[in-house]
Amino acid sequence: MNELLMIPGPVEFEPAVLQAMATKTSSHISPDFIEVFGHSLERLREVFLTEEGQPFVVAGSGTLAMEMAAANLIEPGDRVLLVDTGYFSHRFASICERYGAGVTQVGAILGDVPSLEEVERNLRGAKYKLLLATHVDTSTGVLVDVAPLGSLARRYGALSVVDSVCATGGEEFRQEEWGIDICLTASQKALGVPPGLAILMVSPRALDLFRERGTPVANYYADFANWLPIMEAYEARKASYFGTPPVNLIYALGESLEEILGQGMEARFRHHRVISEAFKAAMTALGLKQVPALEVAAHTMSAIYYPEGVGKELLGEIRERGVVVAGGLHPQIKERYFRVGHMGGVSGGHILATVGAIEGALQASGYRFELGAGLVAAQKVLKEL
Ligand code: PMP
Repeated sequence: MNELLMIPGPVEFEPAVLQAMATKTSSHISPDFIEVFGHSLERLREVFLTEEGQPFVVAGSGTLAMEMAAANLIEPGDRVLLVDTGYFSHRFASICERYGAGVTQVGAILGDVPSLEEVERNLRGAKYKLLLATHVDTSTGVLVDVAPLGSLARRYGALSVVDSVCATGGEEFRQEEWGIDICLTASQKALGVPPGLAILMVSPRALDLFRERGTPVANYYADFANWLPIMEAYEARKASYFGTPPVNLIYALGESLEEILGQGMEARFRHHRVISEAFKAAMTALGLKQVPALEVAAHTMSAIYYPEGVGKELLGEIRERGVVVAGGLHPQIKERYFRVGHMGGVSGGHILATVGAIEGALQASGYRFELGAGLVAAQKVLKEL
């Protein structure tokens, strides 16, 4: 159990967050809990860099957050344009189809992002209600530059929705400045809270569109109409009930938000950039290739091809050296690569331990390289922390 958890979520959690999680469970209408929940909702706006956004925090995983966005905004027959960068984009397409949307996917070769021109050509060609993108697709490690998508969506009268499950709290994101209508995420990644919270930040435009619906939301639990009064009540420091909130997870969220905002969002973005560059430099120094094209590689995780002659037995070798990393997920290349998460409270020490374990595992697998080359490359970048 003392292994270092370096998968793309859940991640290593700060001791103070785990301690908050172990607080004696209080009533969900106790004054202490109301204060923590209300304050956490306020502080989430600072994480998403929006003043006008409406936060929703609901018990569930990231997939519920995707489902809430789709269930509340889509009516049967609506058209959705989806920027496809991998496995989680495909999941989003399936969810939207469940709610009756016609989904058009615009993709690129695996590991890359379709061009803005391509996205715009589609928006020009038909009337879309939503433009969806996966901020970081956890199957490919591809980062989408979502800033221009916000303005493109506005220009063509669509709403922009970003799945930031593997990004929020790590990747640069400025919801209001970039004009993103819904940013959704989950607790267990760069927000540094154990799994179990679905979180959304919704623009006034998106709430207006929700209020103008002609048909009822087809999912009772996901319906904004059920949750909006609850979120508003807690922010006004009043008790309210629709579904029992996950009290302990919200204590943990409150603690993690203090740590994140104590660091500051700009410092947080920079930290993730440097950590990611250090890890990627190490992999390059070891002669390993990455799944995403380097210009579109995420900073919260890395997706690395096994070298020639090495396969997924490497994961076991890495684990024997005390570090847990993840196997492949994208069906086209599943057996050919592995994934490493480096987000949340990740430190330079975690990166060095992970690179060291990978080097040891590669050596045990018979791969020939200069032992220590990865560690040297990482150390050079980590000086910038
Ligand atoms: N979207 C992305 C980008 C993800 O990485 C994940 C989880 N790996 C999800 C959605 C789904 O989240 P969950 O597993 O918490 O349901």
